[in-house]
Amino acid sequence: MLVLLFALASACFADTIVLKNGRRIVASNVTEDATHVTYETPAGQMSIPRSFVLRIDRDNLSYTSASAANTSQPPVSTPQIEPLRGYEEVQHLAVHNDAIDFGYIAKLETDARTGDKSAIGRVAAAHYAAAEFLVAKGDTDDAIDHYRQALVFSPDNTGMLLNLAVLELRESHYTAALDPLEKARRVTPDTAPAAADIAKLEGWAYYGANKMDRAIEEWKRAEKLRPDPDVESALEKAQRDKDEEESYREGETAHFQLKYYGGAAPELAHAILHALEDDFRDLESQLDYTPPEQISVILYTEQAFGDITRAPGWAGALNDGRIRIPVQGLSDVTPELAHVLKHELTHSFVGQKSRGRAPTWLQEGLAQYMEGRRSAADAAALVDAAAQGGVPSLGSLEGSWMSLPENSAALAYAWSLAVVESVVQSGGMNDISRLLDRVASAPSTEDACRAILRSDYSDLQQQAVSYLKREYVR
Ligand SMILES: [Zn+2]
Repeated sequence: MLVLLFALASACFADTIVLKNGRRIVASNVTEDATHVTYETPAGQMSIPRSFVLRIDRDNLSYTSASAANTSQPPVSTPQIEPLRGYEEVQHLAVHNDAIDFGYIAKLETDARTGDKSAIGRVAAAHYAAAEFLVAKGDTDDAIDHYRQALVFSPDNTGMLLNLAVLELRESHYTAALDPLEKARRVTPDTAPAAADIAKLEGWAYYGANKMDRAIEEWKRAEKLRPDPDVESALEKAQRDKDEEESYREGETAHFQLKYYGGAAPELAHAILHALEDDFRDLESQLDYTPPEQISVILYTEQAFGDITRAPGWAGALNDGRIRIPVQGLSDVTPELAHVLKHELTHSFVGQKSRGRAPTWLQEGLAQYMEGRRSAADAAALVDAAAQGGVPSLGSLEGSWMSLPENSAALAYAWSLAVVESVVQSGGMNDISRLLDRVASAPSTEDACRAILRSDYSDLQQQAVSYLKREYVR
């Protein structure tokens, strides 16, 4: 329903919204106001209450806290470390005239392979200089490479290990950051000044990875080694996040794990689980597939979600591996909510059955079909568009729809539904089920269509137009 109202972004860069419950939403055009964080997804514009958001990791490396007005602030400040002294000359030779001298570094590497201690120091210093040069240029990936190479020669250099960890942390590579931090810890006695820095950065890594217990543990340790107001306030915030997470309530059935904020009515949660179990059985038999793991469902009930839930079509619901549904103001499963549940659950089935390889047209076409939508209202417009060569090819609808201009997105949803509808009409749901299995292993979806439906994309498109004419257009 909302399909025709979607406004999709044309910008392609992606930000990561990190939610307090640990999930990440990669989206474009992330904006925030006093109460909401709004972003674009292939399914249209979404909005979630700010209070659910831990932070937003911007694509351009700047770092935004969603819960505070101050931007570009990591949870703790980064220590300044000068890992090598006495190699200034080498550093000038490694980077000069605004460029890295790779020939010089290669020569130093050859020297260092002899095992000579000062040669090893020189090559580490050269890579360090190159890394710092790249950091200043904003090229973090390549800087990380140089730190790793420096550490090949000088594996116990705490300063370089910490500098590498900081770069990884700024890139939100929290697990990757733990590796140099653990190495640094092994070679650093608790009495050394760097010990507190290591604990501080480990706290950041665990906090980023949403392991609040470990983050709290590390920041407490840092505080003990060297009291720091910066760590103290990070520690308080982590404690608050942890308390809030604990206020989630849970429900569980054979196939679902449901989480919801304490304020939601348990009866609604119960009714939703009941509806989902019915949908599960239906999809299981229609698609001849049983997802192996319990499916996570999260209900959002914040007051601030109200405007989204009143929107037609429930654009606020979302499936990013977990099914997320705003239910503010509802006390029972309305027909509208029932559609949303079926739609989102279909995405879970299709995603898993096709091992994540189903193209967007098949995902959205089938999800709309399963929720009960049909092409009647859009048929005439689609037939007209097709006559003028104005419908998108299925090949162009395989990937993300994020960068489609807004009118094309509405058309993409309607067209995908029409194609799926015509496939079901001609070969039954059995064809769809076999198609999904084949998509999981075929080199391409079009190959799978040829094998299972004996049609390529152009055949399918023609079949859809004929079907629309026959079924809906007089
Ligand atoms: Zn969808």
